[in-house]
Amino acid sequence: MERIHNFSAGPGVLPEEVLLEIQQDLLSYKGNGLSVMEMSHRSKEYEEIFNETVATMKRLLKVTDDYAVLFLSGGAHTQFLMTAMNLIQEGKVGNYVLTGEWASKAYKEAKKIGKLTHVAASSEDKNFSYLPKAFNISENPAYLHYCSNNTIFGTEYRDDSIFPTNIPLICDMSSDFLSRPLDINKYALIYAGAQKNIGPAGTTAVIIRKDMIDKFAPVKETMLSYKTHIDGNSMYNTPPTFPIYIVGLVLKWIEKQGLENIEKNNIAKAGLIYDVIDNSEFYKGTTAKEDRSLMNITFRLASEELEEKFIKEAKSLKISGIKGHRSVGGCRASTYNALPKKACEVLAEFMIKFAKDNG
Ligand SMILES: *Cc1c(COP(=O)(O)O)cnc(C)c1O
Repeated sequence: MERIHNFSAGPGVLPEEVLLEIQQDLLSYKGNGLSVMEMSHRSKEYEEIFNETVATMKRLLKVTDDYAVLFLSGGAHTQFLMTAMNLIQEGKVGNYVLTGEWASKAYKEAKKIGKLTHVAASSEDKNFSYLPKAFNISENPAYLHYCSNNTIFGTEYRDDSIFPTNIPLICDMSSDFLSRPLDINKYALIYAGAQKNIGPAGTTAVIIRKDMIDKFAPVKETMLSYKTHIDGNSMYNTPPTFPIYIVGLVLKWIEKQGLENIEKNNIAKAGLIYDVIDNSEFYKGTTAKEDRSLMNITFRLASEELEEKFIKEAKSLKISGIKGHRSVGGCRASTYNALPKKACEVLAEFMIKFAKDNG
């Protein structure tokens, strides 16, 4: 069975080893006579799967007991709302860094529910093609929220030392979570939809420092309260059991390699494609060079017709998912953790040949 070179921005490629393990255990998980999908979330077997998933996350990021690791549903979009609802208290101001569509959506969600908000920095003036490096924080800040990797525009804050440390830091890491080492102690809360780098769609990892909610009365809406999910160990209601199981397998796959090696590999993979862009007049990167993402590589060709031809010819080589997001156009190659290096080699080679043939 031949698999495609899957550059999809999300849901994205999963490690082949993980897919094979799921296949092997699909009908009878570890000889128990049923699949993970068919287990009670309160069963001993599932409890083990869940606890091991949380434990692997804690080992990977050296998460201390000051934090809770949650697996929720509702996607990153629900976290836009929950962060604002739970963590901006009366008289406090949610500070936002606007670097793209997702970061802006989080800001708009906070405004929509009537919270005090403030734009600490924005790159909207240049269609989000760069990353602001200085932040103007409001009085009485509740937190500073930013997005580490801007999936649509192709920029990534790879150095988080530029963010202030004297106010709680919140980050949407949906599209570069666990693509490199991370000091979780810098953060009050991080969240990441699983479907980009750590699993299938259906669950969102949330790591929250518990004192962030201890100080305040919990919000009244049961399912939107972090306290509900911390107290219920992500099982207040039926959690997305199968996606969480797969996340557990992907985390083990990451742990086996180590985050340093994962990062090295990601640098090498993206480098193959950026090298082609940098060494040609034919392809134009769409973002400031120093801010570009190792996860989502955005570029344009001379015309839309040429881009269409490029995407079509790529398909014949099983290169898939390289059409840019509708709000930006052009091309986007997503090179998440699980994408084999071989796929980047195939794409880079194709790009060189296409430029020669059509330049
Ligand atoms: C994909 C993505 C989202 C949206 O995730 P949903 O699961 O669809 O809510 C939010 N933020 C970032 C950075 C993303 O890449």
